[in-house]
Amino acid sequence: MRACRHCKNINDAQVCPVCKNTEFSDDYSGLLVVVDPENSILAEKLETKEQGNYALKIR
Ligand SMILES: [Zn+2]
Repeated sequence: MRACRHCKNINDAQVCPVCKNTEFSDDYSGLLVVVDPENSILAEKLETKEQGNYALKIR
C-alpha cells in the first residue's frame, strides 16, 4: 500500500481513486480512516469527500 502525495489516500492503485494523481509515496506514517466523509471533521481537514484510509504524514 502506498499513500497518494496529493490527497494522502492510501491505496494499491496505479492512479489515485480519489484525486486521480499518480504520485505515491511508500514513506508515510499514521493512519486515518474516513468512514463518513459527509459528517467527518477529519475528511474536512483532508479536503476529501471519499471514504478510505489516509496517511497522517507523508515524507
Ligand atoms: Zn490522491
